Amino acid sequence: METQIFKPDQIEAAAALIKAGQLVSFPTETVYGLGADATNETAVKQVYAAKGRPSDNPLIVTVTGQAMVEQYAEPLSAKAQALIKAFWPGSLTLILNLQPGKLSKAVTGGLSTAAFRNPANQTTLALIQAAGVPIVGPSANTSGKPSPTLAQHVYHDLKGKIAGIVDDGPAQVGVESTILDLTADVPTILRPGAVTEEDLEPVIGTVRSTHHKVGKTEVPKAPGMKYKHYAPDAQVYIVDHESDWPAALAWAQAQDYPVGAMAIDPVLAANQLPANVEAYTLGPDLASASHRLFAGLRHFDLESPVKGILTQGFADTGLGAAYMNRLNKSAGQVHFQK
Ligand code: AMP
Ligand code: MG
Repeated sequence: METQIFKPDQIEAAAALIKAGQLVSFPTETVYGLGADATNETAVKQVYAAKGRPSDNPLIVTVTGQAMVEQYAEPLSAKAQALIKAFWPGSLTLILNLQPGKLSKAVTGGLSTAAFRNPANQTTLALIQAAGVPIVGPSANTSGKPSPTLAQHVYHDLKGKIAGIVDDGPAQVGVESTILDLTADVPTILRPGAVTEEDLEPVIGTVRSTHHKVGKTEVPKAPGMKYKHYAPDAQVYIVDHESDWPAALAWAQAQDYPVGAMAIDPVLAANQLPANVEAYTLGPDLASASHRLFAGLRHFDLESPVKGILTQGFADTGLGAAYMNRLNKSAGQVHFQK
């Protein structure tokens, strides 16, 4: 199959493919998604096949707004309505109870709930509008690899397997949406993202977090012992403190292979890089680091093969919780230890 690239003004052609049961990757402010008609079970099943995704992992349903959610979900609670008003369109996915039989098992993994999101991207909202149906939207990467923040990343992983990609330039946030379960007794963050606990609580009161906050005590003894996701070919080592960089770079220098170093500009400027170390800047701060993390990991996979990647860690709060959640999975929770 030839994978067509569409510009934002070619939405009608992309929507026609979705309506015909084909797969089209779409841009969002978080990462690129892999779109298919959420009401077409055959199309949805192809999403799992294209990504190599385990079939019991349910998909996010991407919608144009509250009215589209109401066609599928049970009547919205006051909290759900307040969150939609405050954060949509945006990087917040809501798990809601479904009206029975409204979405296939391929979408929900057999659950009586579904995850809904309204992305802050006009091109994609126009695409869904033109298709006339909600679209499923897992990240448009091969399962296990870093999520795509550029159309080129999608093309690399899925060319020949999907009908099209709508290219709208780089995703701005760079890490996937916050997932909030509103069907639990207390609203619970299942995956941290750019909308933080601190953002949510003023709107709906107490929010719980099930996502794992990783401390140094949880460092496994050997690399690769824990489940990896977002993983490049090289081993990622988390450098927890800015003061650890001189030791980390001395370690890199002693290796007989090339090593990558991903850190923000002030850290790169403050340290002397050995000849076998290639820097990839994460920009000036945590926001740019979140935006560039996946692209940096892919850079070392595709353009500049290395065997290890030293990557800057941040405090596990606010956007840092989202960043560290992804980085810990990329590294299999391996930290650089002095
Ligand atoms: P991804 O498609 O990689 O962005 O992942 C979507 C995430 O949403 C996965 O971790 C799913 O397990 C989660 N998810 C989707 N639907 C549900 C649901 N109904 N209940 C709980 N988690 C869900
Ligand atoms: Mg994903």
